[in-house]
Amino acid sequence: MRLAVRSAPKADETLHAFVLRLATANGHDHPGWILAAAGLGSTFATAPCDLAGLSGLTGGLATVDALARAACWDARGREGRMLLSGKPVAASALALAHARICPACVDAVGTVRALWDLRCVSACPDHDVRLTDRCPRCGRRLGWMRPGPGICPCGAPLGSGGETADPGALSVARAASWGG
Ligand SMILES: [Zn+2]
Ligand SMILES: [Zn+2]
Repeated sequence: MRLAVRSAPKADETLHAFVLRLATANGHDHPGWILAAAGLGSTFATAPCDLAGLSGLTGGLATVDALARAACWDARGREGRMLLSGKPVAASALALAHARICPACVDAVGTVRALWDLRCVSACPDHDVRLTDRCPRCGRRLGWMRPGPGICPCGAPLGSGGETADPGALSVARAASWGG
């Protein structure tokens, strides 16, 4: 089986973010359906697993290698390190339990960048706004199992507004962005 709308991970997109974007593009209100069809469990983005089913759903457009590069898996042979966009970073530097977004990015591009998963990054260097990890309406922390990059499970749009980030947070975000 193949999805009607097929795609591959962008260079700055984690596996979580890719599956969420793919689900939305195919009209699903939850990524769970795609995970089930691909034979993936809930830890697919953070623990090594077989991505052949997911690759198959994209008709091979997303290769198994490209999908694995987008995953935040243990960096082999590098104790305490995980991969982010294919680069080893300290596992403690990643904030993977909850999703964070730049409201302006999800509004304009519909993408969630890998950069947002770095704990030290709290601002978007493109929009000068603070990242958010909560829905402005229901107040819940954002997870990856939501209807779309810019939609909370409660139905509220997440892509509006955004508070101006402070200069210190912006410098850190810019430095991390160049480093990435
Ligand atoms: Zn942004
Ligand atoms: Zn909400």
